[in-house]
Amino acid sequence: MAGTGKDIQVCFNPHFDAVALWLGSFGGEDSPCDISRGVFAAKRGVPRLLELFKRYGIKTTWGVTGHSVESFPKQFEMIVADGHEIGVHGYTHENPLAMTREQEADVLDKTMACVKAVTGTAPVGYMAPWWELSPNTIDLLLERGILYDSSLMEDDFHPHWLRRGDSWTKIDYSRPAKDWMKPWLPGEDAKLIEIPASWYLDDAPPTMFVKAFPNSHGWITGRELEEIWRDQFDWVYRHHDYAIFPCTIHPDSAGKPHVLMMLERLIDHMLAHDGVRMVTMKEMAEEFARRVPFGSGIDPAG
Ligand SMILES: [Zn+2]
Repeated sequence: MAGTGKDIQVCFNPHFDAVALWLGSFGGEDSPCDISRGVFAAKRGVPRLLELFKRYGIKTTWGVTGHSVESFPKQFEMIVADGHEIGVHGYTHENPLAMTREQEADVLDKTMACVKAVTGTAPVGYMAPWWELSPNTIDLLLERGILYDSSLMEDDFHPHWLRRGDSWTKIDYSRPAKDWMKPWLPGEDAKLIEIPASWYLDDAPPTMFVKAFPNSHGWITGRELEEIWRDQFDWVYRHHDYAIFPCTIHPDSAGKPHVLMMLERLIDHMLAHDGVRMVTMKEMAEEFARRVPFGSGIDPAG
C-alpha cells in the first residue's frame, strides 16, 4: 500500500456496554454510583468518541450489549447513523462460562435482534463479555452466521482460524501426579476467524477505577498509556508488512479527556505512517480470509 508494500490495519473497538458492564462484570449491581458511571458512558462518553472518529473520518467497530441498545436507544442510533460496524457483546455483559448453552443462545439471539432492529442487517462480529468463550460459543456463533470473534489472545497482531475443543488437564493434588501430567492439546479448526484481543491494548485495566476490584487501577496518565500503545504500534510497523492493530476502548474511561487526548495523539502518530489504514473488524476479517484461506496453514505473520 502507498508504495511501501505495507498493510497495517488499525481498528478501534469501543464497547458500548454502558450500564451492562457494571451489572454483568464490574460488581456494580448494588451501587447507584457505579450504575451512574455506566449512564455517563452512554450520555457523554459515546458522543465524545463519535465526535473524535468523525473528525478523523474513521469507521470503527462497536461491541454492543443488548441492554445498552435498549437502555440508550438514542446513543445507539447515533453510533449506527455514523456508519460504524456493530458487533454483539452479550445482553447484560454475562460471563459465557457461567451460562447454560440455552442461556447463551438466548442472549445471543436477543442481542442480535436488538441490533438488527436498528441497523437492518445481521451483525457478523462477536466480542465475548469477559473475553471468555464457553465450550458452546463457537458452535452457537457459526449457527448464527457470525464471521469473526474478537476475544482470545494466542496471537496479537494477526488474525487466525479458531479451534474448537482445545483441551488441558487441571492439577488435582488429591490424585497421583500422573493423573495431571498431560500436555495441552489443540482441537479442530473451526471456520470462524479470531481477531485477537489484548489486555495491553485495552484502556480499561489502566484507566478504569473499579470499586469492587481489590487490585483495581485506573491511575495512569494518558501520556503513559500512549507510550505503551505507541511502542507496540512502532514495533509492529517495523516488523511486519501485514498486521492488524485492534484497540479496545470503553466510553466509561475513554470518554474522559485524558484518554481522548491520548487517542488523538496516537491516531496522528499512526496516520503519519505509509500503509496504515483505519478499518473495521469486519474488513480485517475479510482481508485475513483472502490472505489465509481456511485450511491453508499459511502463517499470516510471514
Ligand atoms: Zn465489555
